[in-house]
Amino acid sequence: MNKESEDCIFCKIASGEIPSQIIYQDEDVVCFPDVRPLTPVHLLVVPRKHIPSLAEMDAADAHLVGKMVRAANRVAREQGLAENGYRLTINSGPDAGQVVFHLHMHLMGGRRLEWKH
Ligand code: 5GP
Ligand code: ZN
Repeated sequence: MNKESEDCIFCKIASGEIPSQIIYQDEDVVCFPDVRPLTPVHLLVVPRKHIPSLAEMDAADAHLVGKMVRAANRVAREQGLAENGYRLTINSGPDAGQVVFHLHMHLMGGRRLEWKH
């Protein structure tokens, strides 16, 4: 059993305790829709393991980020985004606007995205 954080919304979605549409899942990662989509396709890919942020990942977790990217690529293809492209984003810490402290990758696409800082 993976270590879960009791009050973590993404742990609860990943474990099924809070129901969500599940777009993709395997033994390590789960993909589900962002509750407040900013783009026509806006999904989140999370590890089942509770890791608070990218900055708090340790060496043993490194493979999980690879799995998250592979899952996102697969889902992007399935969602028809492969040709026009898509963006994968991980916000880490306050300056990046991280608000949920369970590592997650945004998969965004379906329209032309701006690049602003
Ligand atoms: P970040 O921490 O990377 O800034 O963004 C967290 C993202 O999680 C936001 O885009 C927000 O809309 C999404 N989010 C927050 N709470 C929930 C929730 O309970 N369910 C889902 N599906 N997404 C959520
Ligand atoms: Zn968690």
